[in-house]
Amino acid sequence: MSAKIFILYTGGTIGMAPSNPSDPKSALEPKAWEQLAQYMPSIQSGGYFTKKGITCSYHSFKTPIDSSQITPEHWIQIAEEIEANYDDFDGFIIIHGTDTMAYTASVLSFIFQNLGKPVVLTGSQLPISHSRTDAINNFSNAIHIAAAGVFGLPVIAEVMICFHDRLLRGNRSSKASTNDFDGFESPNYHPLGRLGEHIYLNQNLIMAPASDQKPFGLTKKLNTNVLDISIFPGLKPCTLRRLLDDKEVEGVILRCFGAGNAPMNKKFLDVLSEASSKGTLILNISQCVKGKVNMHKYKVGKKLLEAGVIGGSDMTKEAALTKMMWVLANVKKAKRVQSLCTDLRGELSY
Ligand code: ASP
Repeated sequence: MSAKIFILYTGGTIGMAPSNPSDPKSALEPKAWEQLAQYMPSIQSGGYFTKKGITCSYHSFKTPIDSSQITPEHWIQIAEEIEANYDDFDGFIIIHGTDTMAYTASVLSFIFQNLGKPVVLTGSQLPISHSRTDAINNFSNAIHIAAAGVFGLPVIAEVMICFHDRLLRGNRSSKASTNDFDGFESPNYHPLGRLGEHIYLNQNLIMAPASDQKPFGLTKKLNTNVLDISIFPGLKPCTLRRLLDDKEVEGVILRCFGAGNAPMNKKFLDVLSEASSKGTLILNISQCVKGKVNMHKYKVGKKLLEAGVIGGSDMTKEAALTKMMWVLANVKKAKRVQSLCTDLRGELSY
């Protein structure tokens, strides 16, 4: 058994080094792929993975970036690179900074249509050149998932994040720690797998791959006329109105309390119902990391429903925001509300 893996290096801490080589404490900046690859002898010719029959093909952003600089244009570039190489490879690894990895994983899950192969995002908390780096563990684990067949593992045709000792569905993940090696969580969906001494993949949680009959493709338009607003006690309705009155704003992620609750005063509700009656989509997700929005549970939630607010169930902020960008750009007006509350790629449960 052999496998061909496409590796795209976009940047991130994994490939960073101090900007001043003589000062190890100077700010980290992304370096070229060649500097990173030298720390992975297992992928070089004659290394462990190549001996196993895994051939890797390396591609890099022209200028690797800190992932805090990622833009929707980069997302489309990543998607197009995968599309252009889709038929020639068995699996895809995207090396990415951790800051926005969950946004990239989420948006790719919506952009890809009929995905039939693994797409694994990984990175690290410490640069690969560091003596205690987590990069080699993460990268090696990602190769096992991308080249699953070689290791007798099931092939998972999803966009995933492989980090520390867990495999997570990309659009269920959030960055949870700035410094722990266990940097990501999937608060509302069990990990797809665990990678400890042994690799366990939970086949019951994995999405069925697209049928061979349906060709892989991209639906890659994104509409960035969106806002992400977190409500708080004391938020002035007039402040909210100023934000929602912006003619460009077409979709809003409203991060509410608990099961999707918000102030019930008339001024606040008027702002929301006026915006939604003008056609602005307002998607309610919870500020709680765990659990879901249920606007039928409390009277205040019901008021939000009446004001036209849409329930986002248990979506992460990253999935909700990127889904909004994707739905606004690709779904006909009459179907948008339904699409936002429908499970499109395993990003929500009812
Ligand atoms: N700032 C870095 C990035 O997201 C953090 C990391 O990779 O861990 O690119």
